[in-house]
Amino acid sequence: MKTIGMAMSFGILGSYDLLGDGRPWIAIQDPACTSKTFPKFFQALEALRTKFVAVAVDGGAASGKSSTAKVVAHELGLLHVDTGAHYRAVTRALLDAGARAEDIASVLPALAHLRLGSEISGISSVVTLDGHRPVDASLRSEDVNAAVSKFAALPAVRNFLLAYQRSQVALGQAAGFAGVIMEGRDIGSVVLPQAEVRVFLQADPVARAQRRAAEGQTDAVAQRDLLDSTRATAPLVCPEGATRIDNTHLPLVAVVAQVKALVQSVARPA
Ligand code: C5P
Repeated sequence: MKTIGMAMSFGILGSYDLLGDGRPWIAIQDPACTSKTFPKFFQALEALRTKFVAVAVDGGAASGKSSTAKVVAHELGLLHVDTGAHYRAVTRALLDAGARAEDIASVLPALAHLRLGSEISGISSVVTLDGHRPVDASLRSEDVNAAVSKFAALPAVRNFLLAYQRSQVALGQAAGFAGVIMEGRDIGSVVLPQAEVRVFLQADPVARAQRRAAEGQTDAVAQRDLLDSTRATAPLVCPEGATRIDNTHLPLVAVVAQVKALVQSVARPA
């Protein structure tokens, strides 16, 4: 009990920028000692010490966005938001309601009935539809893979999701995260154009198709990318000022290290 109190007190003391260079000057040897009493103590302390940071991760299908964003979120105490899952959840609901992307008259009434919500599960914000969390496999099925880019090209669908996606920043702040890391196709360009860090991930199309196949998914990644990058509204682009990272031959740890360095360079004391 005493050790926990000491670790927490010295953690707070160490938040003072004694040397005036924004760098740590006290190291807590066993931060996990607070795991029972206050599991997220050091994460919460970091959130108070530094300004809330928004990180946009964009890229094509299977470009490594989710793997990278989840590890960075976990290591830096950020809320992870997967906007691809939002489009997949809406697509699932629209398909189940019998809507077709080619027939906007079938999409609008089905959209009007949808109620989106969020549940925080570990480091991730998970979308809920009418209070229920969709089963992940139902969002990654062949019919959703084939239809999602067609529904995502409709301005009505994009407008439906935009305010919801932007609201995730306030959710992360309220829940005590140090920032938000949001992945998608239009995050740095449309959803969070003010994001302090913008990253664009890319990888050779053959490597990306192999990644999906290794996950056991039938997914025409090149075809989705073509639809996503040629649509009129919020197309897949490398946002202005984004750091491009080609991870065809880079291990995940190397990509994570690059993104973490970018985040740490802007997450100065508040
Ligand atoms: O990231 P994921 O591959 O799960 O995204 C599924 C689809 O959702 C994309 O192919 C794209 O059509 C759409 N999407 C989008 N804008 C985003 C995220 C995803 O249009 N920000």
